[in-house]
Amino acid sequence: MITTRPDYYDKFKCIADKCTDSCCIGWEIDIDPDTLKVYEKEGGALGEKLKKNTKNGAFVLTEDERCPFLYENGLCELICKKGEGFLCAICSEHPRYYEYCGEHLDMGIGLCCEEACRLLFSGKPLTLITEGEGELDEETKELLSLRTALIDKIQDEDNSLEELFFNLDEDIFEVWADFEPYDNRWTETSAYIKAHFGELVSLKDEFNEYIAERSYEYRRLASYLLHRYFMRAVYSAPSVILRGISLYMKTQYLWDICVYHKTGKFDYADRIGTAKYISKQIEYSEENTDLLLMCHL
Ligand code: SF4
Repeated sequence: MITTRPDYYDKFKCIADKCTDSCCIGWEIDIDPDTLKVYEKEGGALGEKLKKNTKNGAFVLTEDERCPFLYENGLCELICKKGEGFLCAICSEHPRYYEYCGEHLDMGIGLCCEEACRLLFSGKPLTLITEGEGELDEETKELLSLRTALIDKIQDEDNSLEELFFNLDEDIFEVWADFEPYDNRWTETSAYIKAHFGELVSLKDEFNEYIAERSYEYRRLASYLLHRYFMRAVYSAPSVILRGISLYMKTQYLWDICVYHKTGKFDYADRIGTAKYISKQIEYSEENTDLLLMCHL
């Protein structure tokens, strides 16, 4: 198997109680069968608590949808008492992703995590590390070399982002209309963006000037999306995946202009916050991701 990962992949560590978010609230956490057996064998007070708080192969969330092992201070009781090796597969893998294409595997850290956003947007341009051995078929080799060329093109400051992604038109709303909303914020803000589309478009030049020194953030985001999704072209065509990536970028860009329009600023904390939020809206949902990546608008 040949693997490719961003150079910051091995640096990733969940910042737990220092995070403004928590991945242990608001969604069902399934426990893989091997870990379930370990939990069933656990004795003492922790074993009792595990028995009480697991049902049908998942943790039983509290009324406010928290994992029952999440302390108020944001730390995980299971890690604190037994170490990271005691976690089930989902908890120890999240927010990593794996995308297979024949004998090739792309590994990365999903942007639904704010620490992953920090790693992507700080430091140097996205650099991919390739390792391992294996025989790749011709199509995979061609797609990989096309992806490298595209990432190089996007990271080259001489190429205009306007041409690549920010030529906004109202087609985007056709895709948004079919999105499953992550939460009310999506429903309300997407409706606001649609209602104020003309105003937001007319704010583009001012916003672009405001963000000029940080336009590399969009280049990094596009590079991340290419790394994560481009190889899915094996099931469709490069043009279809590129169209999907372009729609993702336009969604992000419109959302960012909207923040600027409402608050008069778009600082680094906004960058982390909006990138994480759009990732949750799109990447948390396989259906929403597919809507973009299979879109033939
Ligand atoms: S968002 Fe990232 S850093 Fe924060 S709790 Fe989740 S995995 Fe950890």
